[in-house]
Amino acid sequence: MRISMVSEHASPLAALGSVDAGGQNVHVAALSVALARRGHTVRVYTRRDDPDLPAVVPVCPGLDVMHVDAGPARSLPKDALLPYMGELAAGIASDWGTAPPDVVHAHFWMSGVAALDASRRADTMGYPVPVLQTFHALGTVKKRHQGRDDTSPPERTWLEPSVGRSADRIIATCSDEVFELKAMGIPGNRISVAPCGVDLELFGSQGPAEPRGRTHRIAAVGRLVPRKGVDLAVQALALLAEEGIDDVELLIVGGASDSAGLESDPEARRLLALARALGVADRVLLRGQAPREAMPAVLRSADAVVCAPWYEPFGIVPLEAMACGVPVVASAVGGLIDTVVHGKTGLHVPPRDPEALAGALAELLQNPGYARRLGAAGRQRARARYSWDRVAADTEKAYQMTVGGSAAARRTHLQPLGGKAL
Ligand code: UDP
Repeated sequence: MRISMVSEHASPLAALGSVDAGGQNVHVAALSVALARRGHTVRVYTRRDDPDLPAVVPVCPGLDVMHVDAGPARSLPKDALLPYMGELAAGIASDWGTAPPDVVHAHFWMSGVAALDASRRADTMGYPVPVLQTFHALGTVKKRHQGRDDTSPPERTWLEPSVGRSADRIIATCSDEVFELKAMGIPGNRISVAPCGVDLELFGSQGPAEPRGRTHRIAAVGRLVPRKGVDLAVQALALLAEEGIDDVELLIVGGASDSAGLESDPEARRLLALARALGVADRVLLRGQAPREAMPAVLRSADAVVCAPWYEPFGIVPLEAMACGVPVVASAVGGLIDTVVHGKTGLHVPPRDPEALAGALAELLQNPGYARRLGAAGRQRARARYSWDRVAADTEKAYQMTVGGSAAARRTHLQPLGGKAL
């Protein structure tokens, strides 16, 4: 198939760990590579955020990335990008010309707005292109947890469900998301499930582990944003010390790429202030962004990886830890409910519960044999279920289901995105 991916803010070529660059970038990059390896031709469209970027960057046989002019050619927060989706759609439709792809797969709701617009433009020329949508995160869930701190544009409230109803098929990444999508009014028969995956060539249990400075190490990896709950890991470190387990360091990876950036990062400052207040600052290591290639050695250096978000659309870090044979302590939310099996590959704790987190960590640190068994089972689970090739095969099935439908049938369930101008 000829496949167009749209990922408006999350370029597969971007460095990871900053506020807007994480799992979606990994997902789009790895899924596209896996689809190309399966013989498809894939072009990823993303917004040009730097004037010096070439128009098209070849990645591997069958895959390239196209930078489309849409808004100012500089980095902007993703929540500021909605006004430029029309330009992105125009750029995509113009690149398609009279040879549009078999499917267009949009990532994140704003890319869905652009993909549906591009598809409509192609449709008027007699070339219908089915639209598949992966949301990665849902505004309803974000608003529920972040309330007034949610910086999404207000239009997301009505546009996101509208994208859901208008796309030919939604690809959810976990069972919790299916539940949320149905609550948004999307019929179950238009939802497929394909999880995120893990790069099993990069992440494995064999290979070096970086040295640690204490008997025990806990690691927390991800974008430094409050909802990732890294503060809970700092609190758990202090609670462990109260139980006499104090030769433990907490390594936090993610955030700015250099120390000057970290010093001015509000979340990094908040975490350090908390660590100082709890008397554990000397055992909290704030590393900043780590390149992908360094991540396996980082994960392997830990006795346990903590993923304690308030909510999590999917969560690739737990899969990476599992693939490295490291047990995961995860809040029982979103995708982590599917990936981590309590008592088998890691431990689940309720979200926002530092005591429960400390209790689970104590269980692992005091029982290394148990921790090793969970790690080994996690590795097996990651290898058996979450290779990107398997995810690509599931995604391919969803594509085939839409290509099979006639254009007329598709148009009967396509709904206008609403009368409001963007
Ligand atoms: N990551 C990275 N370097 C960092 C921080 C994160 O390479 O400094 C990667 C991490 O290994 C994972 C991704 O970014 O592959 C984060 O994905 P996840 O789904 O866990 O979180 P999201 O960013 O989507 O909320």
